[in-house]
Amino acid sequence: METIAGVMEARAKLARLGALLFDRRLTDACGGNMSVRVGDLVCLTPSLSGSKHQWQLEPEEVLVVDFEGNILEGEGTLSREINVHFKLHREFGGVGNAVIHAHPRNLMVFAAMAVSMPPVLEATLKFGEVKCLEYAPAHSQILADTIAEALRGQEDRIAKQAAGVIASWHGLFLMGKDLDAAFDAVERFDTNAYCILMAQQALGGEGLLSRQREALAASRRRFQAS
Ligand SMILES: [Zn+2]
Repeated sequence: METIAGVMEARAKLARLGALLFDRRLTDACGGNMSVRVGDLVCLTPSLSGSKHQWQLEPEEVLVVDFEGNILEGEGTLSREINVHFKLHREFGGVGNAVIHAHPRNLMVFAAMAVSMPPVLEATLKFGEVKCLEYAPAHSQILADTIAEALRGQEDRIAKQAAGVIASWHGLFLMGKDLDAAFDAVERFDTNAYCILMAQQALGGEGLLSRQREALAASRRRFQAS
């Protein structure tokens, strides 16, 4: 009974937050997928949620699958990034229950350039550097394994809110303690990316990030000492 209510709630929330993710340019029409684990089941946005549905999903279109990949409820087919979702739910299920893969507008620049993103705001300090992973093809098991490996050791971050990584030339993969926390983290990461990009444009890129990091580190030391 608890599972049925949990599944209904998760499907409704995935549909609503998918639309919001798209609306806020935190993902695009060509990609992204989200899932929430409820007990032994995973509620997952169907493939082509962006390109066919423009992220306007009804709760009943959100898939309910078991860990063998059997679709128990919902419409459409399994997302090709199912490997990542299953892998992260299996491995980090003790600390979090939501996975988001997204193509956030500003963070995509970091993915395209294959560079890691340092935190430059108080709101993102707790996530540390969002690492950019070595390239692995989309939808591959290697990509899933590489993402899981990069998240190992960040279980505390997931338990508190979320931890994420940038897949080279592709986008963001993130696990959160729940879907609200994961969504919040995607937007924080993208705002952090926006601030770096705009600062470099406005003030000139040369050395800006290292100066910012030094200033931030000095401020933190000052407050930690006091
Ligand atoms: Zn993608």
